[in-house]
Order: sequence, then structure tokens, then C-alpha cells
Amino acid sequence: MTRSASPVTGRVFNFSAGPTVLPEPVLHKAKQELLDWQGIGASVAEISHRSADFIALAAQAEADLRALLQVPDDYAVLFMQGGATLQQALIALNLAAPGARADYLITGHWGKTALQQAAPYVDAHIVASGEAQGFCDVPAREDWQLSADAAYLHVTDNETIHGVELNLPLDVEVPVVADFSSSIASRPIRIRDYGLIYAGAQKNLGPSGISVVIAARALLERSGQKRAPILDYRAHLARESMLNTPPTFNWYLLALCLAWMREQGGVAAFGARNAARAQKLYAAIDGSQGFYRNRVATAHRSRMNVPFFLPTAELDAQFVAQAEARGLIGLKGHKVVGGIRASLYNALPDAAVDALVDFMQEFRHRHV
Ligand SMILES: *Cc1c(COP(=O)(O)O)cnc(C)c1O
Repeated sequence: MTRSASPVTGRVFNFSAGPTVLPEPVLHKAKQELLDWQGIGASVAEISHRSADFIALAAQAEADLRALLQVPDDYAVLFMQGGATLQQALIALNLAAPGARADYLITGHWGKTALQQAAPYVDAHIVASGEAQGFCDVPAREDWQLSADAAYLHVTDNETIHGVELNLPLDVEVPVVADFSSSIASRPIRIRDYGLIYAGAQKNLGPSGISVVIAARALLERSGQKRAPILDYRAHLARESMLNTPPTFNWYLLALCLAWMREQGGVAAFGARNAARAQKLYAAIDGSQGFYRNRVATAHRSRMNVPFFLPTAELDAQFVAQAEARGLIGLKGHKVVGGIRASLYNALPDAAVDALVDFMQEFRHRHV
């Protein structure tokens, strides 16, 4: 059984990679509004997505996302279903002619899935891959084999499983398509550096079941490939992300989370907090005399997902079990890499990171 980290709230500290912790004020608000949203006498999950109330919610969510990320007017914002993975296929279908060249930089597991989802539709070309080095580093910029005629370059801003952050200026001629699933709104970015960014909401934005796409309107006008309207960004945009019934409750929760992030000071505030928290955790790892190890090159260590290893797999398992007994949950590493992974998303309280660092010190002293 999981014990809570706070006897007051009964809540744990949740380091899960996603779906994961939501802001506590958001959960309270959703609870309070569940039976009667805005005096309607029904919950938001029980009304039409075409009602004026829901359309106002959707418009506010877009306005909040635009304000948070400073999205320019010549960029469109879409709210969609199907997760980040669906976007990985839609990008190829919408932005590239059949069999056209599309470049992929592979810095971890999700870059590989992006390539796999696009491969049936485009001539997917690997510009460079960190796989041979176990995804512990980003291939040096001068070694990238960029295609002159690529429809786009796809990159993963933050590799959630391997804990690798791109963290370099891309400086390429073609539109950059970036998977921001685990790093959107974690720090200020310049939207104009990208042609399209996409993210499943369930890491750093809100609940699962809804994704956001932010794209240069001009890019969305590309003819792409033969595709059904449901797979066409233009059709979703024309219908304001309500081409078919959207996941209304997820959209509502996302809207509450976006409003909360703005109240908290926006991405500038989160950027500073996230950097400080990651630094604290990496310092605990690096200062452990080799008991805890993270192999990622310092310049590319993720501020959002921190994977690390203890001396043996048995110790990894004990660490996870004992952490859970104190209300620190979601620390088991992804099955692809094993070990431990602590995800430090915006909604995680600072006290969670302090509690983890304290537990790491205590656990180490018991085992050396
Ligand atoms: C979680 C994740 C995905 C997959 O997201 P789904 O919503 O499950 O499709 C893709 N890319 C990154 C970077 C992720 O973290």
C-alpha cells in the first residue's frame, strides 16, 4: 500500500512520467464544479461541445495557451485527440508530399517512434542518431547529415525516457517540427524557431486524452498527401478543433491547468523553478560518490525527466519500494532503460524534490 507524503491532504509526491500529478487547486476546483458547472446544473462532461458555455471554455484555453507560450497570430493552435503518437503520423501526411524526403534527428525512444509513424508516408531519413551511444548525448551538430530537399526536420525537444534534452540552436533551412510532449511550458521558448510543435497534454500540461498542436498557418496550407478530413489539420482548424466530438472533460481540465500556470507566473517562473529543481537533483546524484549514476552528457541532461541508476537492479527495486512506502511514487524507470526516473513537471511541488533528495541521502547511507 502507498503511504501519503502529506498526512494533511492524503496526497503523495508523484514523480510519474505521465499521466502524472495535476495541480492540487485544479483538482479542488474540478471537484467543486463536478455536479454543477457554472450554475448550469450539470457537469461540463454532460453538456454539448457546441454549447456557448463550452465554446467559451475552448476559446479561453486557446487564449491562455497563446499567452503562456507567446504564440504569434500567424500560428494556429489545435486541440486534438490520439496523443502525441497520432501527430507523428499526421505530420508526415500533412506536411510532406507522398514519398517526399523528411529528416529525423533521433535522440531517444520518442524520436524513433516519430520516424516509425511517418515511415509509411515519406522517405524518412535519419540525420543523426545517438542510439549507438545509448542515447547519452545529442549527436554533434556538425555531424548531422541534413537533406537539402527535406519537407521538414523532426526533433524531440525532450526525450522523456532517456532524459535527454536537445538544448541547442537548430539553425536549419527547413521547417522544424518538434515533439514537446514532456517539455512544453516548462521554460520560455521562441515559437518562431519552429514550423510546428506538438505535445500530448499528460506530461506537463494537464490530463491525457488531449494534445496540442501549434503550427505556422502557412505550413498547414501545404497540400500534403491524400487523407481523410479527420486526418487533415486544415479540416480541424476550419472547425476550431471540433470536427468531431472532442474530449470535453479533458479539455476542461487542461483549461484549468493553463489558467493555473498563468496564475503561477507563467513559463518564465516555471523555467526558473524547473532549472533549480533539476540542478538540486543532479547535484544529489553527482555528489553521491558513484552510488547514484546518470550517464547523460551534462549539457543535454533533461530538466523534466531525470533517470538514474543505483549499483544493482536489486537496489533499484528496493529504492522504488521504500520510496513508495513514504509516499514518493512513480519512480520506477521506463522498461526500455530500467533504473529510476524522477519526472519533475510543473505541477510537482518543490517539497517533492526536497523529499526525494532527503530520501536518496538516507537510502545511500544505509547501503554503503
Ligand atoms: C509520452 C510521449 C509521447 C507519446 O505520447 P502519447 O500521448 O502516448 O501518444 C511522444 N513523445 C514524447 C516526447 C513523449 O514524452
